[in-house]
Amino acid sequence: MTALSDLLTARIAADGPMNLADYMAEALMHPEHGYYSTRDPLGAAGDFITAPEISQMFGELIGLALVQAWIDQGQPNPFCLAELGPGRGTLMADLLRATAKVPGFHAAAQVHLVETSPTLRAEQAKRVSATWHDGTTTLPDQPLFLIANEFFDALPIRQFQRDGSGWREVMVTAQGDALAKGLSPTKPIPELKHRLDDTRDGDIVEICPALPPITSTIASRIDTHGGIALIIDYGDWRSLGDTVQAVQNHAPVDAFTTVGEADITAHVDFEAISLATSPAKFTRLTPQGVFLERLGITQRAQTLAAPLSGDALDTLVAAHRRLTDPAEMGSLFKVIGIYPNGAPPPAGLEP
Ligand code: SAH
Repeated sequence: MTALSDLLTARIAADGPMNLADYMAEALMHPEHGYYSTRDPLGAAGDFITAPEISQMFGELIGLALVQAWIDQGQPNPFCLAELGPGRGTLMADLLRATAKVPGFHAAAQVHLVETSPTLRAEQAKRVSATWHDGTTTLPDQPLFLIANEFFDALPIRQFQRDGSGWREVMVTAQGDALAKGLSPTKPIPELKHRLDDTRDGDIVEICPALPPITSTIASRIDTHGGIALIIDYGDWRSLGDTVQAVQNHAPVDAFTTVGEADITAHVDFEAISLATSPAKFTRLTPQGVFLERLGITQRAQTLAAPLSGDALDTLVAAHRRLTDPAEMGSLFKVIGIYPNGAPPPAGLEP
């Protein structure tokens, strides 16, 4: 039991069961007890590790892809260089270092970070000077060059189980002083009408309510002012099955006994992103390993390897493999780009 589970069981006793999205929002972002609000969860000493924490190569190559798009689009000045959910700020710091010598890029860039956690904002401020936002709607009306790595997986999702032509929603209930999973009565869900064609009784599908408005805010700035977005995460083209996972100390845990102490995420439905980009365009969904190889990660690794030997060299080789190998992050993680009509797709991605 945690302080947060006591709060939530009391709330459920008073107001009835809560859906998974409300539960995830409390678990991750409760101002006092939420997982992200109270700690820096990243890295070897934390609960999980992300691509920018594995190697500087990740942020460097993303930086070059953004620069290429900025040049392709006529070097707009000023422009908004934005990141969603920057964690420790490592990716943005690596990106800025790698792009420092590009004439005019830093002079034109205004760095904006979207982050709700005060703890992580403080970490980011150690590495980057920026303007912070609680959400995407307050990003400036400017050309937008944006990166989001492992941001969308942290957005709360609702889960539904098919029952005839309706759905039972997965709800969080209280059993005594413990939290448990339950199912709502069957009801029609208009947003899932199209899923009646490709699911069967008992199948589980997920919806991320925050995903369409965030995506369309970004895409409409790109459509109006130019720019690109690179969205990188684990997931697939269409949601199917229970993908919610809780992780603590690099190991899976029960999402209902550890609330506030474990990271809770769900796979990203990239089709849902693609449906919200219009009138801007979206690229083909591309495995992270393929994307990084196209951007030149092998050449970059060889350059970094030249002066190294022993453990340092082994660490670099392992990081390259971890980011790109299909058995590691190379194919579970995928990339989709958003770009304006009349501009080429971002480097490493195809229309
Ligand atoms: N991109 C980083 C961190 C990933 S962890 C990396 O790759 O290392 C998820 C990040 O998103 C954290 O910084 C978390 O605080 C932030 N985050 C999660 N939900 C958010 C929300 N709704 N609004 C803004 N930031 C959020």
